[in-house]
Amino acid sequence: MTSQSNTPIKTVSCPTCGTPVSWTPESRYRPFCSERCKLIDLGQWADESYRVPTSPPDELGE
Ligand SMILES: [Zn+2]
Repeated sequence: MTSQSNTPIKTVSCPTCGTPVSWTPESRYRPFCSERCKLIDLGQWADESYRVPTSPPDELGE
C-alpha cells in the first residue's frame, strides 16, 4: 500500500446560509462559512444592523 497524504475533508453546510464549509482548521468560523454568518446566528449584530421596522403609530382622529 502506498501512503496517501490526501485525507478526506469533511464538509458541512453553513447553518445560516447553507454554503458548504470545509471542516478544516483553516475554516475558523466553522460550521459557519464566515464571521458574518456566525454573528447572524448568534444574533450579535441584530441590534446594530438589522432593526425591526416599526411603523409609526397612526394618529387617527379621536
Ligand atoms: Zn454562511
